[in-house]
Amino acid sequence: MNRAIRPNSRTRDPGPVSGRTIYQPNDRQYGENMYDFVIRGASLFDGSGAPPRQSDVAVQGSFIAEVGAVSGATRRDIDAEGLALAPGFIDVHTHDDFAVLLHPEMAFKVLGGVTTCVVGNCGMGAAPWQAASLMARAFHPDQDVPRYEGYAGYFAHLSENPATPNVAALAGHGTIRLAVMGVDDREPTEAEMAAMKATLNEALDEGVIGLSTGLIYEPGRYARTEEIIELASEMSTRGGIYTTHMRDEGTGLVASVEEALRIGQEAGVDVQISHHKAAGRPSWGLVRESLELIEQAQSRGQTVFADQYPYTAGSTVLAAVLQNEMFGDSDDAPSTPADVVIASCSPHPEWEGRSLAELSEEFGCTGTEAAERILREAPTTTVITHMMNEDDVRTVMAHPSTMIGSDGIPTVGAKPHPRLSNTFARVLGHYARDEAVLPMAEAVRKMTGFAAETFGLDRRGYVREGNYADLVVFDPNTVKDRGTFDEPTLMPTGFHHVFVNGTEVVSGGQHTGSRPGLTLRRQG
Ligand SMILES: [Zn+2]
Repeated sequence: MNRAIRPNSRTRDPGPVSGRTIYQPNDRQYGENMYDFVIRGASLFDGSGAPPRQSDVAVQGSFIAEVGAVSGATRRDIDAEGLALAPGFIDVHTHDDFAVLLHPEMAFKVLGGVTTCVVGNCGMGAAPWQAASLMARAFHPDQDVPRYEGYAGYFAHLSENPATPNVAALAGHGTIRLAVMGVDDREPTEAEMAAMKATLNEALDEGVIGLSTGLIYEPGRYARTEEIIELASEMSTRGGIYTTHMRDEGTGLVASVEEALRIGQEAGVDVQISHHKAAGRPSWGLVRESLELIEQAQSRGQTVFADQYPYTAGSTVLAAVLQNEMFGDSDDAPSTPADVVIASCSPHPEWEGRSLAELSEEFGCTGTEAAERILREAPTTTVITHMMNEDDVRTVMAHPSTMIGSDGIPTVGAKPHPRLSNTFARVLGHYARDEAVLPMAEAVRKMTGFAAETFGLDRRGYVREGNYADLVVFDPNTVKDRGTFDEPTLMPTGFHHVFVNGTEVVSGGQHTGSRPGLTLRRQG
């Protein structure tokens, strides 16, 4: 399952290494050259989950050249005594498909240690462009998304105009279905299925690493299990992971995990359950059953894992909350109008940060009616929904099947969920250090080595000689999330240096402006 993914040599290398000596694995010359920099004396979390050990790390060009007691000559020494050194964090669950084009410095991610973003989750991919840009309206309401043709065009655009972090992409089933069938609530015809397969195969040809579904969203929700199995089967011989925002994360959680496992089994692909949770009061506690299902599938030999963001509140488009009856006015509803808070609403920024309970009082109507009115006036409104149980969050986080993904919605400038920037700091500081929910080395593994293996990101995720120098230097005693629901854009603290492909992108907690990110593509 460890499929090799390398920056594609067919496109122009965006240049972090141009003009420098590039270290190649097995290149015996490197010891004779001068290192570009050596990080000295850090407590090294190597990404494997092993306890930290004191170690230097030398970097030459884009790569880690030496790990251990480094004595070779170097252009720069970075004293990291008392600090931690880890592989750069891999955010396996992002919606940054267009953010990396519109905000290429991605400060809201890299200031918190993220060096790779996996885009295209929850059925929402970057191509075909027309459908993708329609679906992205909610995230970037007032911005023009640059045009391109297919994933070839998307990756070419990113290679010409690199972002700061690396980008790996999933194709989105919802985007593909929208492009082929519109929002029709029916099964695809044979011709439509062939067209969807062709679109997926174009994406795979270009190096997309898998297929995601969003089975609560339009139009993904109209797909039956068989449709997804047939489409995902295209990946069985060529590689590619199936990731899913499941059909029901509430009282239907167990049935939804069963559906995801069946799709993986019958299509012959690995499965990633997105943002594993039990949503809404009536379903609290069900994660024990869903985790058991995952364990049983693993013991049968199936490859299935999950990701999680470290909060008891989620965030999505208001339309989906209403459409899936995720909240209601009665006390026994999964969540109440007080639990649903407006995150972004471009025609009415004055509503941002206010709950449906508050707005319904102002409007003089019920919470449901308030939601309907908001949707009429601002169809792309996004919300934060307080709907999870803290014990469930901890149970899922401590489980070995769980890696970390922010699921942040990059509505930069509005009131996004603080998970957008603070996810990794919160797991390290709050949950690992302060609450001891899991050891810090295990927390780092869930953000690095585990993620790289699962998504097939070759030579990433571990601090090892020959790997890409994606590195984070942070203070394990002070690392902390600061963003709150009131002030979500506060950046986390404790991150001293961040390197992407050997180039420093954060220095002394400040973005350097460098954009050395590569497109990470599945080969073959
Ligand atoms: Zn999702």
